[in-house]
Amino acid sequence: MKIIYAAALIGSLGAFALNASAQQAAPKQDDPALKIYRETPTKYSDLVHTKLDVRFDYKKRYMYGKEWVTLKPHFYPTDSLSLDAKGMDLKTIAIVKNGKNVPLKFTYDSMVVKIKLDRTYRNNESYTVYIDYTAKPNELKVQGSAAITDAKGLYFINPDGTEKDKPTQIWTQGETEGSSVWFPTIDKPNQKTTDEISMTVPAKYVTLSNGRLASQKVNGDGTRTDTWKMELPHSPYLFMMAVGDFKITKDTWKGKEVSYYLEPKYAPYARDIFGFTPEVIDFYSKTLGVDYPWNKYSQIVVRDYVSGAMENTSATLHGDYVQATKRELLDDYYGQGRSTIVHELFHQWFGDYVTAESWSNLTVNESFADFSETLWAEHKYGKDAGDAHIQDDRENYLSQPNLRSKDLVRFHYHDKEDMFDAVTYQKGGSILYMLRNYLGNDAFYKGLNIYLKTNAFKNGEAHQLRLALEEASGRDLTWFFNQWYFGAGNPILGITYKWDDASKTETVVLNQSQDGNVFILPLAIDVYAGGKKERKTFWMRNKVDSLVFKSAVKPSLVNVDADKMLLAKKTDNKTLDEFAFQYFNAPLYLDRYEAIKAAAKSQNSNAAARKVIIAALNDKYWELQIDAIKAADMNNDDVRNAAQPILVKLAQTDPNNLVKAAAITALGKLKASGNSNLLKQALNSQSYAVEGAALNALALINPAEAMTLAKTYEKDSNGALKQSVLNTYAISGSDEQWPFVYESFKNGQPQSQFNIMRNYADMIGRLKNPANAQQGVNSIIEFGNKYKKYGVGPQIATILTNIKEARTKAGDTSSNAAIDKGVAELNAPAN
Ligand SMILES: [Zn+2]
Repeated sequence: MKIIYAAALIGSLGAFALNASAQQAAPKQDDPALKIYRETPTKYSDLVHTKLDVRFDYKKRYMYGKEWVTLKPHFYPTDSLSLDAKGMDLKTIAIVKNGKNVPLKFTYDSMVVKIKLDRTYRNNESYTVYIDYTAKPNELKVQGSAAITDAKGLYFINPDGTEKDKPTQIWTQGETEGSSVWFPTIDKPNQKTTDEISMTVPAKYVTLSNGRLASQKVNGDGTRTDTWKMELPHSPYLFMMAVGDFKITKDTWKGKEVSYYLEPKYAPYARDIFGFTPEVIDFYSKTLGVDYPWNKYSQIVVRDYVSGAMENTSATLHGDYVQATKRELLDDYYGQGRSTIVHELFHQWFGDYVTAESWSNLTVNESFADFSETLWAEHKYGKDAGDAHIQDDRENYLSQPNLRSKDLVRFHYHDKEDMFDAVTYQKGGSILYMLRNYLGNDAFYKGLNIYLKTNAFKNGEAHQLRLALEEASGRDLTWFFNQWYFGAGNPILGITYKWDDASKTETVVLNQSQDGNVFILPLAIDVYAGGKKERKTFWMRNKVDSLVFKSAVKPSLVNVDADKMLLAKKTDNKTLDEFAFQYFNAPLYLDRYEAIKAAAKSQNSNAAARKVIIAALNDKYWELQIDAIKAADMNNDDVRNAAQPILVKLAQTDPNNLVKAAAITALGKLKASGNSNLLKQALNSQSYAVEGAALNALALINPAEAMTLAKTYEKDSNGALKQSVLNTYAISGSDEQWPFVYESFKNGQPQSQFNIMRNYADMIGRLKNPANAQQGVNSIIEFGNKYKKYGVGPQIATILTNIKEARTKAGDTSSNAAIDKGVAELNAPAN
């Protein structure tokens, strides 16, 4: 599963300067739930085959189901069976004997049904239980989580067709244990079953499920019955169904169907969005030495999905964030959409083919899917892109200090949903990245191949991964797994350097200052001296270690962790001259990234720092160009004089639209009228990002012209341009533009709502019509309450207070009461 946290979006916005720890509530230390040992569920019985026959009641939001579930005792003989069945009406439960249903006795507490079998069965005997039931997902009281905002299992979207512009759909979400809302099963990841699902649906709709579409039968009553068969075993949480008006676009890989199910409106862009899928299947198959294991691979995009995306076996389901037009995709280099597509695909091996045996071991699913995003980035876009992606992961994890106490393999948690955090995902991915470097690519991938082949269609945990990697490499990895998988935290590493000219000796002192255990760290250290580079390897094993070596001349740079692999909070006490040397001479993305960061802080006092920033404007990797553009201090005369002509050139000719847009934004802030031709050219760009940046810049130089232009963009605006139109109106607009601004805000994605919030609030403060202002105030309060759980309450309350002040000054106090009430709500502690 890929999670897109609203809070992660919030956290990325400097304007809100949120405390990073607000991303997830810190665990309460005295929480009794944390004392529970979360063992792998005992297998009393094994699922063998699950056959379902279902139809839907859109009006009641019910699903009528008949199930034939075949099981056998796992080891010990038993005369009873427990199935998870959440919030159902169970009408009949029977054992199938010679084609007849013989009723069985059962007790049911609305969560688990305990069935007394007709006799004792041994583990060489299977039996089939028939269940006639009604699933009532909307009447079930279940807690969602930050990761998965709901846990109903089965979702009816706009079932009455009353919501304008929203299609009618049905889809399911199993992970973690939601499948048992729509069919009785043993809803645990260490169960695997083949399946057959027959769905009877209105004939106008398309269906999708796991495996192959075995048959379609048109019924007399305007319905059609589609039967899907999954002939290889997989876990219940990976079952899926979707029903709705989708248009299917088909590709192939090695004769297998690769298909994309989209709303008709987005179907023309199916290949623009998903068309690289066969190429990724091929790359992952070759890298792992295991061909894509399922008979087809479909991806479907649905409305109102409760998380980012879900890797249902052979049928991945995406939220609608992945939808985009060809023009919007011009600005998408390796964004959320594409990285999620490759993430879910890698799960088809790590997660679906070999499945984490319990939620405690979720890392053997999610850290691989996370790592695969970097794998694809470096394969498709180059090493810099891969390194940039994994660095984002490291920073994501390191920015949340409350995660430092959590083990990667975690046997104590409050709720299984809590496992879906930046430890399991981003920290896990970063650890795999280190491990690959330590073992070497070939040994690492050979180890993954052994893990997959040994545990195919079964379950895995971290120890099985360790054993497979040990078998491949011949190296013991207990030390590595103990510190990174079964331990918590990360090194906090200080690095200091001392040159002694008399003895021609360099001393590098490494100091781990974290609480708890010392980490064993194999390090590559590159020494640059006298025009040569020499690599040393060093194992840090103590809290403080010193590395002393002779050098004929003082080294220009000692580059500790020269492969840039460490997951550590690092304080590197290099001089700016050394960082500048690193920028121009060391080979990796992170070498240059670190140098730009250090240089950004010292531009005003240090010529070497300015040299780095100016050079980085033309860095060979685009994200570093943007970092430098944003870092360049244009109030410094030297920086501005050197940067301006480069920015003009980037704005006009850089091949990357986001670099172009960033350069235009930086130039726009100078408010120089000399750039107006450049802006006019940019306003004709096919790229929404470039066009939007130009409109924003124009709004600063010539607000009236920007307002006129914004009007012409109202209809055909998307992505970054829509943001800029809104922004222009919010800065300079009045009641005339209010309906457009209000509607766009209300219907916007959380990210765009946050982006525009400041200017939106300013506009509300300026409006002449008190009714419009009231409407705006209400929308902000609603927004604040929605995201209050992520800690934004006080910030939104401050924004409301500012609106109140502005409106009171302008002589309108009619929304004051609503504001006061809203502020009180938002400042109250979140529950
Ligand atoms: Zn995932």
